[in-house]
This record gives sequence, C-alpha cells and structure tokens, in this order.
Amino acid sequence: MIKRIYQIVCIVLFAGAITACVQSTAKETELHENLVNSESEFWFQRSISHVLLNRIVSKKTQVVWSTNFHTAAPVPIGAVGPEKYTKKLQGIIQNDSIGRVLKEAVADNMNVILVIGDGMGNMHMALPVYKRYAEKNKKPTMFEQIMKEGTCGYVYTGTSRGLVTGSAASGTAIACGQKTLMNMIGVDSTGMMLESAMSLAKKKNYKTALVTDAGITDATPAAFYAHIFDRDLENRVAMQLLLCDEVDVIFGGGASRFIPKGTKFSDFEQYAGQFDFDSSRKDSLNLIEEFKKKSYQFCCSTEQLEQLKKEKKVLGLFAEGGLPAPINRDSSTMNIPTVKEMGEKALELISNNQSPYFAMIECARIDWEAHDNDIGAVYEAVEDMNRVLESAYAYYKKDPEKTLLIFTSDHETGGLEIAYRKMPKEEAFRKKLANGDEWINLTNPLSYKQYLTNLNQQKKTVSKVLSGSHSTQELKQNIHRLLGFKITDEEAELLLYSMTDYKKYKD
Ligand SMILES: [Zn+2]
Repeated sequence: MIKRIYQIVCIVLFAGAITACVQSTAKETELHENLVNSESEFWFQRSISHVLLNRIVSKKTQVVWSTNFHTAAPVPIGAVGPEKYTKKLQGIIQNDSIGRVLKEAVADNMNVILVIGDGMGNMHMALPVYKRYAEKNKKPTMFEQIMKEGTCGYVYTGTSRGLVTGSAASGTAIACGQKTLMNMIGVDSTGMMLESAMSLAKKKNYKTALVTDAGITDATPAAFYAHIFDRDLENRVAMQLLLCDEVDVIFGGGASRFIPKGTKFSDFEQYAGQFDFDSSRKDSLNLIEEFKKKSYQFCCSTEQLEQLKKEKKVLGLFAEGGLPAPINRDSSTMNIPTVKEMGEKALELISNNQSPYFAMIECARIDWEAHDNDIGAVYEAVEDMNRVLESAYAYYKKDPEKTLLIFTSDHETGGLEIAYRKMPKEEAFRKKLANGDEWINLTNPLSYKQYLTNLNQQKKTVSKVLSGSHSTQELKQNIHRLLGFKITDEEAELLLYSMTDYKKYKD
C-alpha cells in the first residue's frame, strides 16, 4: 500500500514538474517574443548582427544607446555675431526661431554661415570635449569657443504636432522659420510653400552656397531650396535645385539623381569622375548638362574642386549618395573632399564680393553613424564638424560686425549616453583615506584613460567590420584589429549566425 502511494506521489510530482517545465518554456518564449517585439519598435536595425555587435561594443565601452531613431532630446546651439541676432538664440528656443533669426539677418544684409550637425545631440558634441579633457588638452573645441564667446542655448526640435522630428521637418523650421509635419520640405503643414532664408538672400543678390556630406537632394540641404510634401521624391528635388536658380555653389553627394535613366556615371568621360554607379532617375534628363547650360562649372573630385574658377557658379557632386564616413577615410577616398574642404572652398568662392553671402554647411554623417549606434564613427564625424567650424570661424573673424555664424543640430539621434557600470563586489574600487576610513566604490564611472583608449582603438565603422568578415576567425581578427577588443569564439559564432542565417531583425 505504502509502495503504491509512493508511486502515485512520484507520478503526480513528475507530471507536475513536466507541466511546470512546459509552462515555463512557453512563458519564456512568450516573454522573449514580447521583448523582441517591443524592443524592435525602437531598434530598427539594418540587421541583428549589428544589434549584437553593438551590444558587445556597449559592454566594452560603457556607451549606451537607447534607440537607433531620432529622439526628442534638446540639441545645442551656439552663435557668434552681432548681438541683435545672437541674443535671440540664447537659452531655450524652438528650431523655427533659428529660421526667423536667419531671415532677420538677411534682411539686414549680414553674411550668414550656418553649420548643421545632423543628429547631433549634446552628448555627441561632448565626445570631442571629453577627448580633450582626457588628453589634458587645454585648447577648447570650436563648439566650446563659440558658445563661450557668443551665445549658448538649447533647441527644442519637435514638429508642428509631435515631440520627435526628422531632418525634413526640422530642416524646414531652421531654413524657413516655421514648423511643419514629418517628411515635408519647404512647405507648411497644409502643403503651402514657405520661403527659406536662403531664397530671401538670393532675392537680395546674395552669393549662396549649400554644402553637405550627404546627398545634395537629402532633406537638410533640400529644406533651403525645395518645396515638396515628401522628402523621398529626390529626383523631383534635384529638378527643383536646377530650376530654383538660388544656389551659386552646390557641393555634396547624390550624383545618381543627376544622370539620365539607364546610364552609369562612368558613361560620361567628360566628367573624368572616379565613380561607377547607376542612375536613380526615371527620365532621360541629364541634370549635370542642364546645370552647365546655366553656366555652372561641374566637378566630382578633390583635384577638380581645387581648380574651380571663382567667378563662375559650381555644381560639385562627389558620390553616388552620401560621402564616405570620416572614420573610413583612407587612400582610396583621397580624391573625395571632406566636408571641411568643401565648406572652405564654398566660403572662398562666395566671399570677397561686393554682395553679402549665405552658406549652409551640413555635417550629415553624425546622424548616419548615430543611426548605426556606432560610437567611434560618430566621434570622427563630430570632429569633422569641429574642423568645419574652424574654417567657418576664420571667415566670421574677417568681418565680425557683418557676419553671423551659427552652429546647431536638427534633432538628436540614438539617445546616446555614457553610463557607469556596476562592478562585482570583488572588483570594487577601494581606497584608504587619510583618516583611516575605507572608501569603496562599486560603480565604474569609465575613466578618462579608458575612454581615450576606446576611441583611439576604433579604426573603421562597425558595418565595415561586419561586411568584411566572412568566418568566425575573420570576425574575431577584424573586431580586434579595427574595433580594438577581443570577442570569444561563442560571440563570434553567434555573430556569424546572425549575419548569414538571421539577416533581418524586423521586415
Ligand atoms: Zn536630421
């Protein structure tokens, strides 16, 4: 009898354990799916391999990204120039205030240099600042210098109806002085045309320039000359650039929007370009030739950029889409100008005239690299913007009473932060104080030394490392060589699996 009871108890316990086990596995799966689903709403990565590698990088560097989208975080603004304008950019402002100040400066015949770090939040801007602290380098960044000498503020970047914006809506607010809806360029929320400060400047016979390391038909530069409800209609935006007759110097990428359907850039020997890519146009128009008919010079390499004539207008297209990421520059990209080289040339071409000038220079790669949550690449792109500001500041200094120099951003990208990390008890920092007490710290605040090491170690973008690795061995080697740390065999295997068999995180 006792044996029988014992058997029944055993069977019940066993069945219970199995049920609990099945239930907990199902719960775990459900929980996992929920986590993946809820997370993917804010983590629209190109591939899960990117997510995985970024998490490994985050663990090593203590850099934390909250998303790979734009956020509502306020962005910095700094300006030097006559107080009449800089005072209005001080403290907490909205992005459309910038456009109104630009228009006021143009109405007064001021020279205007506007440098936009696309996607640059306060933390992005802090990366080179912290780097200099770490190096005990006393020379301030241009961001610090301009903010100290002139004005310093926070820009709230929302659209006409939402907290989080995009380059089109925010670019429109900055260029035209009025907020609009997402993806709209140069039109208000009802679709009516808005006038940009640069259009106003052209009406007043200014010399004008638009410079970007993204495509010239991309949202930020387009906000200064185009009027369209959807930023993705870039072929039409390119047409509007041709027809507006408002920009004297045009430097950027996006050349595929300028050659006829069915052609390759290399089909046109007269451009002497170094590229080979297909047209993105849906018609037979060659916009480069159309620009030439309007007396524009054309260039597509650093060499040609250096030989431009001052008295003529110019169209310079240096890539199919965006220009190379600053961190990926090497000898193969030497003949493609940096955004600093383009900006400096543009300022040289439009200044020293009887008429005042208006220049917008965009450092777009900050946003692109932040969308990839790639800390080293973001850092290099912000350094690029600092270099742009060096030359912009030199031009401002030539005539400070008549020149307004503003740097700002259109929105923050990525929710970038550097956080402290909790340490295991045995690894706690311990220090004997003079009075005999022991100071114990369980959080790792990330030392300046380690921060510097992390930044110096990264040599290429995370996506370049991934695309150049085809085996676990290659992955381990490339991550060590180009990102500066070691990963385990298991991590490498998981990464490779995610690259080859699990391509998309979300369709
Ligand atoms: Zn943007």
